[in-house]
Amino acid sequence: MAQENLMEKIVSFAKRKGFVYPSSEIYGGFGAIYDYGPYGVELANNIKNAWWQYMVQFREDIVGLDSAIFMHPKIWEASGHVGGFSDPLTECKKCHTRSRVDHLLESIGVFADEKMSVEEINKLLSENVSKLKCPSCGKSDFTEVKKFNLLVKSNLGNFTEDWQKDPVYLRGETCQGIYVNYKNVLDSNRVKIPFGIAQIGKAFRNEITARQFIFRTREFEQMEMQYFVKPEEEMQKYEELKEYRWKFFTEFLIFKEENLKWHKHENLVFYAKEAYDIEYKFPFGFKELEGIHARGNYDLSQHTKFSGTNLDYSDIDSKEKFIPHIIESSGGVGRMLLASLTEFYNEEKTEEGDERIVMKFPIKLSPIKLAIFPLLKNKPELVSKAKEIFNEQKKYFMCEFDDNGNIGKRYRRQDEIGTFACATVDFQTLEDNTVTLRDRDTMRQERISISELKNYIQEKINK
Ligand code: ATP
Repeated sequence: MAQENLMEKIVSFAKRKGFVYPSSEIYGGFGAIYDYGPYGVELANNIKNAWWQYMVQFREDIVGLDSAIFMHPKIWEASGHVGGFSDPLTECKKCHTRSRVDHLLESIGVFADEKMSVEEINKLLSENVSKLKCPSCGKSDFTEVKKFNLLVKSNLGNFTEDWQKDPVYLRGETCQGIYVNYKNVLDSNRVKIPFGIAQIGKAFRNEITARQFIFRTREFEQMEMQYFVKPEEEMQKYEELKEYRWKFFTEFLIFKEENLKWHKHENLVFYAKEAYDIEYKFPFGFKELEGIHARGNYDLSQHTKFSGTNLDYSDIDSKEKFIPHIIESSGGVGRMLLASLTEFYNEEKTEEGDERIVMKFPIKLSPIKLAIFPLLKNKPELVSKAKEIFNEQKKYFMCEFDDNGNIGKRYRRQDEIGTFACATVDFQTLEDNTVTLRDRDTMRQERISISELKNYIQEKINK
């Protein structure tokens, strides 16, 4: 399947099947914001639950946190976001479309990134301008580069007219909430270095260009884990975290290895020791799915300096005192959802020659685990038995009851949303309490006792 074609298919499929809707659509949409529909919210919750299970539940050395979106504005000065969290912006002089210059340059194979100075990036723009095209009108006529700060401002708690002078920010990343709670967690929990704090939550960025569906949005959710280590152990723990995160995708979510790759950052910020991204093969090419970075002691040093609070760690055994170094993994729910839609989308021809779209999600990601059908809608005894089974199974996992259309159509509907299995109640069910269980991927059917249904599905989820 051609990749551009695949992107179009996924975008329209996601809307048609209730995974992702453009925000405020009846008002003409709202730039770079999306909503999750009924199956999208299930998928997003399953992604977050899988991440939480893998990063917190499976780990004795990592604890969870849910910090507020709004924080003291000084935090964003300490982190460097007020001064330096900006992207290089240019505007097409013909149609006024704004673009990120580093992305325009990247599209013609010239390396640039947001960490470069305005002078450096302006030079690259003028050297390459004839080869660069405005993504909207195709002209090659751009304004000088300006740096545009990505923090979104608000007037929370400020009732004056000129609140913009003293804004409160919507957080640009979730990890600052972790850094400023590091001491609270240390003092209130039995954690000892090395340990991590994990958090899932919303972040906001005034992204300049956001043309790739849910890949880059202005409101998004991050799943971040910050791991606090002794300085001398930073790089060893970093390697372990890289391996652990790679296995999350390849072993826990069963993404194909060939659709993932490592990307090493060549242009590091001054305090970083090393930075890699895991890139996913999206329909528009390999792009960042998540970042795994070794950040030295920059974050806690900055917060010590700006807050005046001592954030040293005292090692009880060695009696040493030091500012912990931090390694982090940071990924986005939206990007993982888009990667999952891409990874598990299949178009197939069945043995009977029919075409079907099937989302081959691993069961832990499937929005619906089990669908239950009565064979015939007009046989009350079948309908009531199917309802009875549905009412029991829905206590344990997401189920759907469907009696609409013929069985073939119902299977196709469930295949499209990636339902793991379908159970059909027929006349034999009334005699022996078994149902026909149809497997989504093989389409094979087997008889299974109703009393075994729950364990059958639960065991697959736990595997
Ligand atoms: P990019 O280079 O693509 O802008 P980034 O390097 O700025 O990403 P980070 O600040 O490292 O991203 O954020 C960590 C993760 O958060 C990213 O890997 C991505 O999954 C997610 N993320 C960041 N910005 C966005 C966004 N605007 N929309 C959706 N997800 C995002």
